Amino acid sequence: MAPQRPGRGHGVSKAVRVHPRSLKRKRDEDQLEELSQRVASLESRPSTPYSLFTELPLSQATQVGLTKSHFKTLTAIQAQAIPAALQSKDILGAAKTGSGKTLAFLIPVLENLHRKQWTEHDGLGALILSPTRELAIQIFEVLRKVGRNHTFSAGLVIGGKPLQEERERLSRMNILVATPGRMLQHMDQTAEFEIANLQMLVLDEADRIMDMGFQGTVDAIIEHLPKERQTLLFSATQTKKVSDLARLSLREPEFLSAHEDAHSATKS
Ligand code: ADP
Ligand code: MG
Repeated sequence: MAPQRPGRGHGVSKAVRVHPRSLKRKRDEDQLEELSQRVASLESRPSTPYSLFTELPLSQATQVGLTKSHFKTLTAIQAQAIPAALQSKDILGAAKTGSGKTLAFLIPVLENLHRKQWTEHDGLGALILSPTRELAIQIFEVLRKVGRNHTFSAGLVIGGKPLQEERERLSRMNILVATPGRMLQHMDQTAEFEIANLQMLVLDEADRIMDMGFQGTVDAIIEHLPKERQTLLFSATQTKKVSDLARLSLREPEFLSAHEDAHSATKS
């Protein structure tokens, strides 16, 4: 409590007690506002190459997750993709295997939902499609590591478990990492599956998803998704058929490609 000042006249000073919880809420709101402003201001200098994760407008939770996972310097594709994706742009990113594409989409997924103050009540916010179960598991592991200080719920939808068992957990998830076939199965069969709120769709290894004959499945999944969303598409090869782009309904995507070695701090 602040010391009482000697009263002027008959003045009775009123001490307003601020509840600690509302103080914290105010502080969180201020931080979020500042973060959003920093993200918006990335726009004015889009060609500035970022080198360290600490230079990026990322939440404290993500910064801590990255530090604990010993990620410090951005790879080339991360330096190109993360700033654009943070600004909700659609992306078509190509960079060879081992160049760090996973974080290039996972960080924007965490951050964009964080800035939207996504909670368990908002349902599925991001869907990440991967061509194989093994790759999906790898993505999920990175998400768990880097996202450990966030409160989002995240799940894997790759089959191998009874549909019913997966289904019960699905409705509570904010972020899903899935294989296309299993995801579509749920969308077709799970009545209560809520995807109207979806903010982000990610296709990792998009070239392989297409090569493996998942075109029809991906088309059908997209039919279920809201049109107003951000789409991030990553692949190891650069050439994408125009027909594939039309199918994914990207909105004026940023075409990004990086060919430097993994782990190299980018100056491209
Ligand atoms: P890609 O999907 O392009 O094949 P990954 O995302 O699987 O690449 O990353 C390849 C390897 O590089 C992984 O071991 C990952 O932990 C590591 N890695 C990714 N980003 C960074 C980074 N910024 N700094 C150091 N290592 C990184
Ligand atoms: Mg990968």
